[in-house]
Amino acid sequence: MMRLDKFLATLGLGSRKEVKKLITSGQIQVNDVTVTKVNHGVDEDHDQVAYLGQELVYQAYYYVMLNKPDGLVSATEDKMHETVIDWVALDFDHVDLFPVGRLDIDTTGLLLLTNNGQLAHQLLSPKKHVAKTYQALVTGQVSEVDIAAFAAGIRLKDFTAQAAELEILDYDPDKDQSLTKVTIHEGKFHQVKRMFLARDHEVLHLHRVSMGPLDLDPDLDLGQYRELTAAECDLLR
Ligand code: URA
Repeated sequence: MMRLDKFLATLGLGSRKEVKKLITSGQIQVNDVTVTKVNHGVDEDHDQVAYLGQELVYQAYYYVMLNKPDGLVSATEDKMHETVIDWVALDFDHVDLFPVGRLDIDTTGLLLLTNNGQLAHQLLSPKKHVAKTYQALVTGQVSEVDIAAFAAGIRLKDFTAQAAELEILDYDPDKDQSLTKVTIHEGKFHQVKRMFLARDHEVLHLHRVSMGPLDLDPDLDLGQYRELTAAECDLLR
């Protein structure tokens, strides 16, 4: 059960003040009866709530796929930079979204935003070893020796990065740069960049293409976002 004004605000119908006005002015019906009490109790699973005759389906959890552009911080608040949550605020101001994990400020690509803490916890739990796949543009020519080193795990200063799959997609001899695909199963700070650096390759650009069962929608340009489809939500369960 929840208060009618909270129910409506959670659905994004307006601020708490705005939805109170909708209720008191007789624009909201619960089970076909106009209700004017803002604290009217609503059973979000069973009651039928309508606004101007249109049924409102309650949604407790939101899942937003963002193709993160360069320059946004993966946090809910930041004093210096715009955050991924600021970025989507126009459409999701009514939901307490947070990013599932972090991408560096200059890393682009797939970032999931949700208000479902349990799901976020599952995806981020080190025990689950959720795979994260990136396209990495790096300096130099990546070799079979690098691939073997990634596969064996790489000792870094403060931890040993576990086995990761590295694939060479392209090499540009003019620029002496390699385009690669790398999959890691953990998520330490700057992990991919540090693994490459340990092999004398500097990451010039990092772009995440998948996280666990979720692939970045190729139709989303950098900066674009959308809610997950029902099928994508099922994949995450
Ligand atoms: N590894 C990195 O180095 N940076 C990221 O943003 C993600 C993985």
